[in-house]
Amino acid sequence: MAGSLTIDKRRIALLGATGSIGSSALDVIARHPERFEVAALSAHSRVDELLELCARFRPETAVVADEEKYGALRDGLAARGLATRALAGADALDEIAGDERSDTVLAAIVGAAGVSSTLAAARAGKRLLLANKESVVLAGAVLMRTAAEHGARILPIDSEHNAIYQCLPADGSRGGVRRLLLTASGGPFRGRSRASLADITPDQACAHPNWVMGRKISVDSATLMNKGLEVIEAHHLFGLAPECIEVVVHPQSVIHSLVDYVDGSVLAQLGNPDMRTALAYGLAWPERIDSGVAPLDLTALARFDFAAPDLQAFPCLALAYEALRTGGTAPAILNAANEVAVAAFLAGQLPFLGISALIESTLAAMSPEPADDLAVLIACDGQARRQATELLGRMVRQ
Ligand code: NAD
Ligand code: MG
Repeated sequence: MAGSLTIDKRRIALLGATGSIGSSALDVIARHPERFEVAALSAHSRVDELLELCARFRPETAVVADEEKYGALRDGLAARGLATRALAGADALDEIAGDERSDTVLAAIVGAAGVSSTLAAARAGKRLLLANKESVVLAGAVLMRTAAEHGARILPIDSEHNAIYQCLPADGSRGGVRRLLLTASGGPFRGRSRASLADITPDQACAHPNWVMGRKISVDSATLMNKGLEVIEAHHLFGLAPECIEVVVHPQSVIHSLVDYVDGSVLAQLGNPDMRTALAYGLAWPERIDSGVAPLDLTALARFDFAAPDLQAFPCLALAYEALRTGGTAPAILNAANEVAVAAFLAGQLPFLGISALIESTLAAMSPEPADDLAVLIACDGQARRQATELLGRMVRQ
């Protein structure tokens, strides 16, 4: 019909829809109903929240990862008169990441629990909005290879990697790049000595100065392991050697990261600290759309500060660099031990300083092996969790 234009909507599967990233993504999606529709939503176990999202966004499929919650999801959908199909379990996550009902997948599950669905999206050649950094740390080489083989486009959502993606040449060339500079806020304990961190509580660790995030990544930010995971993530996403990836502390979290070129140019991406910018970029790429984020007011920002990270107070960052240099299964061991340690800290079983100690002792107790195969990496992840749990038991009994 003259004058009418039909634009194909992007159909999005959101894995981890009830989380911090998931809800920021849904906020952006809701601003653009003419562009986006929600094909699938998943949650770990919070069925009531998932049902509310289903009522609002009307996905074709909803998945609860915890199989025991299947009945509650199915009955809740029926009670609301929704046509959404209910599925449960880890395989169902792979199904919604890989099936043809969506063309875009947001990988926003926390932890290595997201690796299988992230890879399923890559295998299906989807546009992959990648927030789940642990899956890159665990299986970065496999993920990048799979995405290349199947034509999946990975759009990094982690704010630093999103910034770098925006500042690198669009043709994929790296010839003129000297260094990547990842900015770090320094977390809530920036400037403090190691000794002063002995009695930190989970709520103190989760009170991030600039970002509101899930509890696991908040603790990672407080230990600087988040930046360590991000160094490994950057290595895989952008193909640069560890010595070309540096971390600079920038407490204001306005410069999200920088690329240093051989001619002396340094390109940076700036913005208010709000994940909706990266999510809008990934959702609409290569176009730009409104994200709901307020414009940056440079004159209201008094100053930008920069400092080198304190590796004495925050040894997790050094452990991550070491694991990246060792390669093979070392990053998988680092990630698994960190997940065990952070869960124990959040449960009140392990002191804050015990997090890096447990990771270090798990790495020391296991011999990293070469690994180019997902099965080997997943087996190593399981073994490292058992080793860390055993060492945790000994630390707690002492
Ligand atoms: P969150 O804890 O707020 O949400 C996690 C989501 O994953 C929830 O929907 C939860 O239901 C789901 N989930 C948890 N365990 C699961 C399991 N075993 N199986 C299936 N689903 C499971 O976390 P978040 O802060 O949104 O972070 C999500 C991911 O994005 C993490 O990898 C994090 O490192 C990364 N990330 C987050 C931010 C941020 O600002 N929050 C920024 C950069 C990167
Ligand atoms: Mg980040």
